[in-house]
Amino acid sequence: MNKNGIANYRKVEHYNEELQEKIRKNYKDIICALGDDPEREGLAKTPERVAKSMQFLTQGYDLNPAEILRSAMFKEDYSEMVIVKDIEVYSLCEHHMLPFFGRAHIAYIPNGQIVGLSKLGRVVDAFSRRLQVQERLTHEILNCIHHTLNPIGVAVVIEAKHLCMMMRGVQKQNSVATTSAFTGEFENSKTRAEFMRLISADLMR
Ligand SMILES: [Zn+2]
Repeated sequence: MNKNGIANYRKVEHYNEELQEKIRKNYKDIICALGDDPEREGLAKTPERVAKSMQFLTQGYDLNPAEILRSAMFKEDYSEMVIVKDIEVYSLCEHHMLPFFGRAHIAYIPNGQIVGLSKLGRVVDAFSRRLQVQERLTHEILNCIHHTLNPIGVAVVIEAKHLCMMMRGVQKQNSVATTSAFTGEFENSKTRAEFMRLISADLMR
């Protein structure tokens, strides 16, 4: 159980009432401070909706990513590269609390154990549904897989657009930030090149 009183790695469907109320009040104050009227029709329920939305968007704090992986690990002799590409990423940058979003590509080379493929997506969610920076998100996913599955190597690449760059500040509308991290066999340039070639290929599109 966690601070929301929910068993680990279930989606936030029930909201912690006390937390909900605290966040709601604060958003009402923010609307006032911004100079609008939180009582007007369109805004009357906004603090409540935002409070629920923020709890949903930060539900990763209550999830245990290593537990998610451990729940679906199987003994298997397969020792070729396993790749899951185009995993959707939605996160909030911790500097501006604005979304950044894009795709993650993950590969690992099994060392006697494989993991249910959907769990890699769940691990991405568990780390991205928090206040984050893309660089740390990349390393947290990598380290979690590395330490839990103990594979011969792990590779993680994330490509994302940041609303804090697009809507404010430098207003660079189309720039994409790419981050990558590698362990083990992927530190070998030949293996890494093979991985990069496979995630760049339009195999099924
Ligand atoms: Zn930002």
